[in-house]
Amino acid sequence: MYTATAGVVLPTTIIGSLPRPGWYTQNLGSRDFREAMVDRVYREQYLDAVSVYMRDQEVAGLDIVTDGDCRFDADVAGHNWFSYAPLRMDGFAGARPYQVKGGLAGIPHKPGHILHDVLETRVMPDLVGPVGRGKLRYSAIWKAAQRQTKKAVKFGSITPELIAMAVRDLHYKDLRKAILAISDALNAELHELADAGCKVIQMEEPQIHLLAAKGLNDAVLNADFMVEVFNNTVRGLRAKTEVWCHTCWGNPAAQRLFATQPSYAPALEALNRVDADVITFESCSSGGMDLEAIGKRIRDKKVCIGVVDHHTLQVETPEQVAALVRKALEHIPAEHLVLASDCGMGREGMSRRHAFYKMVSIVLGTNLVRRELKLPEAHCLAGEPGYSMIEAEK
Ligand SMILES: [Zn+2]
Repeated sequence: MYTATAGVVLPTTIIGSLPRPGWYTQNLGSRDFREAMVDRVYREQYLDAVSVYMRDQEVAGLDIVTDGDCRFDADVAGHNWFSYAPLRMDGFAGARPYQVKGGLAGIPHKPGHILHDVLETRVMPDLVGPVGRGKLRYSAIWKAAQRQTKKAVKFGSITPELIAMAVRDLHYKDLRKAILAISDALNAELHELADAGCKVIQMEEPQIHLLAAKGLNDAVLNADFMVEVFNNTVRGLRAKTEVWCHTCWGNPAAQRLFATQPSYAPALEALNRVDADVITFESCSSGGMDLEAIGKRIRDKKVCIGVVDHHTLQVETPEQVAALVRKALEHIPAEHLVLASDCGMGREGMSRRHAFYKMVSIVLGTNLVRRELKLPEAHCLAGEPGYSMIEAEK
């Protein structure tokens, strides 16, 4: 149900992660979040970091905020986005470095390429027993952020297939069974999160479009099963909260995973079947090439498009953002359109200032279009001329 985007036309947000402040030097490691929050130094740094993430988003004027994925460690290429869940869920143990044989990482890069580091630093536990929620602590993490703001805090979770594909399965010895077991465990965790009051939950990211782009269609890794897995993971949630499905074309170390930008077109029929209220599409990096196809196919859900690129340091101008929003409005009604970044901006990519001004551009660019449509504009404190420190020449 629409709980976070209800009542706002052209709401703005980001996908999730933000660059770490330099002083946020603590890491969770394999600790339970609740246990780490007993550590005075960790607790202070963590809560202060969440606070500055919130403030930056509020000063920019975003409508829906995130905790910046503050729980993830400062590691190579944002590895913890993959490893956070299996390091804490029941059924996983050990620390196995990625091996080429049997690996399903999908990043075939050779030494000398920055993405080779992504594989070299992929150390994941094995799947050794029945999967359970363990100590994911999603609701505690969300509460630590939501109690710092009145705006809705969007909480993101990795999808089960990405965990299953990244670990060695010594227990189920069956990829389909492993994926569904992780899916069931995540569903229980997400229900606790929704029951705690979280107004918007985002699943990151079903492999539907990536399988289509790679032409993969085997017995397990196929679009229909990925839709089944998504819908199983979020079953029952839309009666309680707003569910988002995040898709993009990759993020590790802010690198593109494809030499040429793939199209969403072959995946849209399947994506339209996910049990979600909003689907996000990486759109800025492609110049909005799929907007017409997205508008034609995705009719009964809201569409969130990226209007700033997470790969580049060049900050998009408000005029560039507005142009992409106008292009989207040719195919998607304003009541169904949400604006965001293409993906998270914090997985070892840009600086805090780059991310901040990209967020400001999302809001100022959307405001340009809101003005044209006579819609209420968001207050962007960062763009207030009266607060410039530069004095007029006398
Ligand atoms: Zn993404």
